[in-house]
This record gives sequence, C-alpha cells and structure tokens, in this order.
Amino acid sequence: MNDSGRLPLDTALEIAQENNIILRRTPRSVAIWAANKRVPGIVRRTLKKHRDTIRSMLAEHRVETCPAPQLHMRAWYYAGQVYRCGLCEQLNIL
Ligand SMILES: [Zn+2]
Repeated sequence: MNDSGRLPLDTALEIAQENNIILRRTPRSVAIWAANKRVPGIVRRTLKKHRDTIRSMLAEHRVETCPAPQLHMRAWYYAGQVYRCGLCEQLNIL
C-alpha cells in the first residue's frame, strides 16, 4: 500500500471501527484515540483530511462513527437516508 496516499473515507472509518479507534469532536477538528496501538499514518491522514465530514457525522450520531459497534448495533436505526446509533444519541457521544 502506498503509505503517502490516502484511503476512501468509508474505508478509513471501517478500519478505525475494526481497530477500536475512537473519533471525537474537538472545537475545530477531530481527535483520534487509540488505546494501545499506533494508528496507521494513512488512516490518520485520511481521517484528518475529512475532519469536517466526520464532525458532521459525529454530530448526527451516524453508525459509521459509532465507537462500539458490537455493543451498540442493537440500537442502530434508519433515519431517512442514513443509519444512526440510538445509544450514541442517548449518551450524547460527540
Ligand atoms: Zn453507538
């Protein structure tokens, strides 16, 4: 893989979820939290490049940015054209 390139956003978000990398809004960007592991550079760059989109997705509690899919999936619901996480919404995870 070309490490200087970038990934499609949906791919980067899938990798983040599979690796328990958590995204949070900051006042102007997004924070990328990973408990015990290094976030691959290409994933970090892609997520930072799309920070405005990700901030909107977090604000809408979209399932793509849900930090705990395995635990929250039961609360996911279809909202118009997108899926949202009802648990993130209740917890107001931003
Ligand atoms: Zn969730």
